Amino acid sequence: MNLEPKFERNWLFFYLLVLVLVGLLTGYTVELIAVFLVGYIFIYLYKLEKLYQWAQSSNMENLPYENGVLGLLSSYIYQCKKQRFEQKESVKYQLERFRKLISIFPDGVVILSLSDEIQWFNNEATRLLLLEKRDIGLPINHLLRHPKVSELINRGSKGAVVTIDAPTSEDQWPVKKLEVRLLPYGDNERLLLVRDVTQMERASQMRKDFISNASHELRTPLTVMKGYSELLLASDVIDDDVRASLKKIEQQVVKMQTMTEELLTLSRLEEGGAGFKEVLVNVRSLCEQIKSELAPVADTKEQNLIVDVSPAINLRGNKTSLVTVLRNLVTNAINYSEKTGDIHIFWSMNELGEGVLTVKDAGKGISARHLSRLTERFYRVPENNVMHKTGTGLGLAIVKHELERHDARLIIDSVVGKGSWFHCVFPITKVNITK
Ligand code: ADP
Repeated sequence: MNLEPKFERNWLFFYLLVLVLVGLLTGYTVELIAVFLVGYIFIYLYKLEKLYQWAQSSNMENLPYENGVLGLLSSYIYQCKKQRFEQKESVKYQLERFRKLISIFPDGVVILSLSDEIQWFNNEATRLLLLEKRDIGLPINHLLRHPKVSELINRGSKGAVVTIDAPTSEDQWPVKKLEVRLLPYGDNERLLLVRDVTQMERASQMRKDFISNASHELRTPLTVMKGYSELLLASDVIDDDVRASLKKIEQQVVKMQTMTEELLTLSRLEEGGAGFKEVLVNVRSLCEQIKSELAPVADTKEQNLIVDVSPAINLRGNKTSLVTVLRNLVTNAINYSEKTGDIHIFWSMNELGEGVLTVKDAGKGISARHLSRLTERFYRVPENNVMHKTGTGLGLAIVKHELERHDARLIIDSVVGKGSWFHCVFPITKVNITK
């Protein structure tokens, strides 16, 4: 029987009426009604408690009441429970799908909590980082004990990447090098992506070794060829045609010598440059040193080297490395400028407070489409090459590397027909101005 609440009310009213009639006949009206109401309240309280227990339980079947107000309440609670259950199931399903998706990722994925504890990781992370189920809840720093990883986690900016040794040094273990990337998501949460880069690192090391060995091996034959061509050029038994051919040979040998030296320099830079010591370098003295070294070359083209740097400016850096940067930029300015153009070397501070050392020429300039590629190895601007035929295309790659060692960057501006500006931008931490 499904009793509507209004029938329940009517029944109560009916019972009370009967009690009043019986009371009138027996003379105990008040007592009868009181006993009835107290009993009624107790039964109702008991039923409410049962309803509450059912509401709290996970039992979705067996509605405790089907009739009256309690029946209505039961059915409403049932609807809410059903809705909640369906929502939970859907979230569970989505989560499961997400986990399945991440678990087939070829990269290791570790989800970190707000306080950088491990929340979850996929199978590949287990393989690469040797994580186990019991590591969940532990701070990632405790398991991946590597200064680079700590730094990445403590102040890692978006998408920051580091390459580290794999957490085991066992000879048989195939994973030797790992690339670790930190990705922020949601509300300050972070994801650690880990990739096995052993093969890539090996290939890159082989390439570096090959370039370095080949350059090294080429040194001796080139020195011999240069020696003999000089010897022949100095003798007077050769005619003019042969002399002209020998001059060309000598020119190309010099170009190859420069190239091998520059390739060796790049290899050393890629190796991370042992013996890179930073001291306080006075920028004015540095510019004057380059000026006196290159002024004779500039003179041959009637170019003036003009230094405009206050003696108070110092840079915290490696002197040899800074000399290489400036020498390359000023040499380029000389090589790629017409006769009589002035070359300026000056210091300024940009709006971020960074120190900027600029080499400006009034040369041919470089069209905008080449600018982003100038620091690539062997990249040369075809239309400028006629001005300096023996260039190798390696100088600016070296400049970029040397600047990176100082946390500095190279910015190139140029206007075709007007000239170029090569700005070396040093972070404020590297700049020291004496009072
Ligand atoms: P290279 O040995 O050829 O000079 P760089 O790496 O130093 O090698 O320079 C790369 C190319 O950039 C050069 O070949 C030249 O075309 C162009 N370039 C460099 N500096 C200048 C400059 N100051 N003005 C015009 N072109 C330049």
